[in-house]
Amino acid sequence: MCLDHPANLLSRRQLLTGLAGAGVLTGAAGCVATNAASGRDSFTGFRSIEDDIAEGRANHPKILKSFGGAYEDPRLSGYVQKIGLRLAKGTEYQQYPYRFTILNTQIVNAFALPGGFIYITRGLLALASSEAELAGVLSHELAHVTARHGAERHGAQQVAQLGLLLGAVGLRAAGLPSDLMRIGQTVAMAAIKGYSREHEFEADTLGVRYMSRAGYNADAMATFLSSLREHSMVEARVLGLPAGKVDEFNIMSTHPRTVERVKQAQAHAQSAAAQGAGKGRWAANEYLDRIDGMMFGDDPKQGVVRGQTFTHPILRFEFRAPDGFHLRNSPTRVQARHTSGAAMVFDMGPSKGARSALEYLRHVWAARSRLHDVERLVIDGHQAATGWTEGRGEAGPVHIRALAIRRDRESFYRFMYISPRNQAERWARPFRRSGQSFRRISPDAAARVRAQRLLVVPARSDDSIAGLARTLPYGRHNESWFRVLNDLAPNQPIGEKQRLKVVAG
Ligand SMILES: [Zn+2]
Repeated sequence: MCLDHPANLLSRRQLLTGLAGAGVLTGAAGCVATNAASGRDSFTGFRSIEDDIAEGRANHPKILKSFGGAYEDPRLSGYVQKIGLRLAKGTEYQQYPYRFTILNTQIVNAFALPGGFIYITRGLLALASSEAELAGVLSHELAHVTARHGAERHGAQQVAQLGLLLGAVGLRAAGLPSDLMRIGQTVAMAAIKGYSREHEFEADTLGVRYMSRAGYNADAMATFLSSLREHSMVEARVLGLPAGKVDEFNIMSTHPRTVERVKQAQAHAQSAAAQGAGKGRWAANEYLDRIDGMMFGDDPKQGVVRGQTFTHPILRFEFRAPDGFHLRNSPTRVQARHTSGAAMVFDMGPSKGARSALEYLRHVWAARSRLHDVERLVIDGHQAATGWTEGRGEAGPVHIRALAIRRDRESFYRFMYISPRNQAERWARPFRRSGQSFRRISPDAAARVRAQRLLVVPARSDDSIAGLARTLPYGRHNESWFRVLNDLAPNQPIGEKQRLKVVAG
């Protein structure tokens, strides 16, 4: 998580008014024009190409802010920009100022803003295995831009679902601390909200066209989608969620596609363009050379998860989640989940003038909830306050403990511990211990927190997957993760001359 508090970002409503403003004008006399990329008559309201560009430009800084900023590696970002521009040359719209940005996050996703602003995450780059796969992703996003899907998108109904935690625990509004329900409604979420099936299919079809024109093997679109599905399944297992219900930022939730549909799009695009299947470049070695040394996992600047501990070396604190919880960092908060349905969320909130932790808890953070057993605490020398309330989850009533720890005059650290009501007793002590584990760390301890790197190494005859996967940060899921990173099916042995992605540091 970063210093920026989600409250500083636009609300979903504000964003929709601005971002999808034109779409909301349905019913008014909009103009219908034939799109040069899709060949369809499309309703894009009163929007011009210039409107698209202005919108992209205005939202670009917000996207950066919400996803940990741009990944600063001139060699790698220059490479992605070069491939992107090569693909953009083959599109029907040259008037967009195409810009390709690598986002500094382990989340696996890619998306586009109108006007030619295209984003790909570090996490996605780690997963891809060839330039052709990268080209497939960029082409698909380019197609969302050229077919002007953003301008066609209507209303709020397609806004991505609330976050992982809310989705998983299924909380509803009644009686919850007032800002719990705002979790996840960041500008970024609304900007990358999913497209319709038709738009996805069209983006695949056009994407195949663009990557073929640039000389890449269009089969890469389908091979990468398989990798994404594998990744999504491993992620779901790690989080103890049903397959497919993973993360609001995950590419599978914003681009719901199947390999079948991609293949169909491929056939469609190829017959139209009269291009042969299975032709074109993969450029796997070039790609692996480029990502060799790239940061992997959490950037220490945003805090890192190691086992049960979250450490933030810049803000200089750490805390532990209860045993069995899986921790997940994001730019705005840290959340953790247990397969039993219990969960926790950690973030920071502005004090809004509250003079004590108690006042903050009662009158700011949980102002709209009925809190019980409110008590003052001191944690690691910090003033703190805690209390509990009840809420409703999809699976029944939930028990929620809120804990606020004073950071400074302006802000509070906040823990929210949630359990199904019938498990409240089971989790009372582990939750209390977790809250009490919060502590400041020394500058030396902070300096020891280093980023992990992705390295590309040649396979050796004595390599074992267990050995190579040991350094990944996913505990008992390390081997599955290693297989996904290296395109190895379950039980498939390492190829004799395979170049392998391993994690160091
Ligand atoms: Zn898409």
